[in-house]
Amino acid sequence: MRMENELLDVTIIGGGPGGLNAALVLGRARKKVTIIDEGRPRNAVTREVHGFLTRDKITPHEFRRIAKEEISNYPSVSFVADTVVAITGTDGQFQIETVQGQTFASKKVLFAVGMKDEPLDIPGLKDVYGKSAFVCPYCDGWELRDQPLVIIRRGAELLHFAALISGWTDRFTVCTNGPDELTDTERKELRRHQVPLFDSPIRNIDSSDGIVQQVVLADGTIVPCTGIFFKPELITGSDLPRMIGCSITEWGAVVVDDFGKTNVPGVYSAGDAASRMHQAIAAASMGAFVAAAINNELSIEAWG
Ligand SMILES: Cc1cc2nc3c(=O)[nH]c(=O)nc-3n(C[C@H](O)[C@H](O)[C@H](O)COP(=O)(O)OP(=O)(O)OC[C@H]3O[C@@H](n4cnc5c(N)ncnc54)[C@H](O)[C@@H]3O)c2cc1C
Repeated sequence: MRMENELLDVTIIGGGPGGLNAALVLGRARKKVTIIDEGRPRNAVTREVHGFLTRDKITPHEFRRIAKEEISNYPSVSFVADTVVAITGTDGQFQIETVQGQTFASKKVLFAVGMKDEPLDIPGLKDVYGKSAFVCPYCDGWELRDQPLVIIRRGAELLHFAALISGWTDRFTVCTNGPDELTDTERKELRRHQVPLFDSPIRNIDSSDGIVQQVVLADGTIVPCTGIFFKPELITGSDLPRMIGCSITEWGAVVVDDFGKTNVPGVYSAGDAASRMHQAIAAASMGAFVAAAINNELSIEAWG
């Protein structure tokens, strides 16, 4: 239980796999930690988490419940359900403020705030996202194996994705939803693999109970399918890292070194927010090793 005005060792912002595993490691290292989470993870739309050893097919909710239960064995960790809105101060003495008016003082800050999807602008995509439309074949390709799929992507990276998805199904059609941004050679390459390619804008995605039935194009073409993979547009889960001076990559991630350290002393980041590998187990793994780096820094500072 946190005492009023207590100086915490670490405040973790974000309670997804990244923040939770960091809390577990820091709790076991007997550090005073508060994990503040507003509870809006990017995978909230999905029914199952896949590819996480010992947890394959667990629901995101159950994953978090078990994690919290395990972490609660370590009494120096507390959970707060709230949204952090401001951070001031410097290394050793940060002040953290939440939307509900709570304040925390902390030596170090760890951003495990994840990434967020930009609004999905294709009509009907929202209804199927996380149920039969996905972004990552490593996460959801198995469930859609051998099925007729639509890939919504464009440009050179489309070729890379087409080669990748062919490991799960050879029954896929590409809809670029506007100009395909391919070279003649790239188009020829898709033809060589007999991949149908349509560049007419998508008018609508028809579905029933979250399962896509067909993609309807503006020129009247109808592409029947039972699943979709599309390229999401992502932004950092929170603007706070940028607001306190952390460098941000052009794709919206917090810039960190090999130990999760940002350019702002005392501030770290882990998980999707600081990585290009957007998977739960990768976020958890990064949370664990960044927690060890923070603990190392705290131990050296305390030792004197
Ligand atoms: C459709 C979909 C399906 C997926 N399927 C899989 C899968 O099957 N297997 C897999 O391994 N991965 C999957 N992923 C990816 C996986 O969900 C992420 O890699 C993982 O959740 C990242 O964990 P994280 O802790 O970095 O961030 P998140 O899990 O996104 O957690 C970040 C948390 O920080 C909170 N937060 C943000 N800002 C603040 C603030 N200011 N104050 C307080 N809290 C804040 C958010 O509300 C959120 O709860 C999927 C993703 C999507 C979108």
